[in-house]
Amino acid sequence: MKREGMEKVMYCYYCKADTIYKKYRQNNSYTESHCSVCEAKEWQNKVIYQEIKKWIEFNREKGLMELPDLK
Ligand SMILES: [Zn+2]
Repeated sequence: MKREGMEKVMYCYYCKADTIYKKYRQNNSYTESHCSVCEAKEWQNKVIYQEIKKWIEFNREKGLMELPDLK
């Protein structure tokens, strides 16, 4: 099966919007999936997601400010 690239819609914390994350086939392996708008890599986006999640849980435990739910 021949595929030139793969795309998926993800929430980008850099763009603060749903964007298309793409990866391409290059020399028999795929490049890192990255945002088609700001070019942030998927793993960088996931790091931010984990950080935000931690803070939301921390704030909930402490009864601090209400933050919007994550997508
Ligand atoms: Zn982006």
